Amino acid sequence: MKNTKEISIGNMKIGGGNRIAIQSMTTTKPSDLEKSIAQINSLEKAGCDIVRITVPTIEDAKFIDKIKEKISIPLVADIHFDYKIALECIERGIDKIRINPGNIGDRERVKILANRANLCNIPIRIGVNSGSIDKEILQKFGAPNADAMVESALKEVAVLEGCDFTNIVLSLKASNVVTTVEAYRKIAKKVNYPLHIGVTEAGSEYSGLVKSSVGLGSLILDDIGDTIRVSLTAEPEKEIYAAKEILKACGKINGGINIVSCPTCGRCNYNLIETVKKVEELTKNIDKKLTVAVMGCVVNGPGEAKEADLGVAGGLTECILFKKGELARKIPFENLLDELMKEINGA
Ligand code: SF4
Repeated sequence: MKNTKEISIGNMKIGGGNRIAIQSMTTTKPSDLEKSIAQINSLEKAGCDIVRITVPTIEDAKFIDKIKEKISIPLVADIHFDYKIALECIERGIDKIRINPGNIGDRERVKILANRANLCNIPIRIGVNSGSIDKEILQKFGAPNADAMVESALKEVAVLEGCDFTNIVLSLKASNVVTTVEAYRKIAKKVNYPLHIGVTEAGSEYSGLVKSSVGLGSLILDDIGDTIRVSLTAEPEKEIYAAKEILKACGKINGGINIVSCPTCGRCNYNLIETVKKVEELTKNIDKKLTVAVMGCVVNGPGEAKEADLGVAGGLTECILFKKGELARKIPFENLLDELMKEINGA
């Protein structure tokens, strides 16, 4: 977003016109030290900019510094209920805290936490979820709708601001896409704190991706959102690949391989569906700005390949490789992947 406040999370800046940062969350507890480190480093390799980890106990908080020693992306602690866990995480070098001040308890505790975070320049994300809006607000609005979420967020912001704390990131997530989009659109008009956008409990890899694409895509195209989390019931690396695809589709990422492929039809003489899946898998970590067409047949393949840097299209007995719309050479079907990857890597 152009007009949001810039916030530093470790070595990463969000808001203030910086690029939209990609986040995910580990499926481990900090006390599973080796697993946590391995997963965070794998997420970084996939393209994750900021990673969150749940810190359910004070004992878990004692592993934060050990994790930090072995990772290089900023680490965010997800804290519920106990402000002392948040304080311990700050002492051990956490880069950001995510809380819902409403469940931290009395205001005095929130104040202690805000003062400590201020002193250490640690931002706090206020994470409002439609499922955990306080009773008073819920009664006023009658349902956990967008207005209730906005009021809840503003109430929590006022609490932190009342402690002279403004190093704030906000999120207002619902599992309902329409509610989520409405809530973010409304809050974006009221505050200039950076927004962490996401649809919560979005579901499986397939339905979660659809919900997140519609919700986050709508917001990003409205220029709302400073950091993005795609929530999927799948391996966390998949959240990163999904986030990258959403950002690419919204024109926010220029790098990476853009694969175009046709829906196939009776003219296709090879297994295009499997081939495209394999090309996607083989190219997901390649950070080159290339458009690659993988087309079913030569009828439309060459036309599409005109727009692409590279392209393959199936013929009757073999494939045809195109470069910038020009026929480069013919390839037997069985060598298609090897030859295509050679071209991509050499481009
Ligand atoms: Fe069918 Fe060829 Fe078009 Fe693919 S490119 S949909 S195979 S006509």
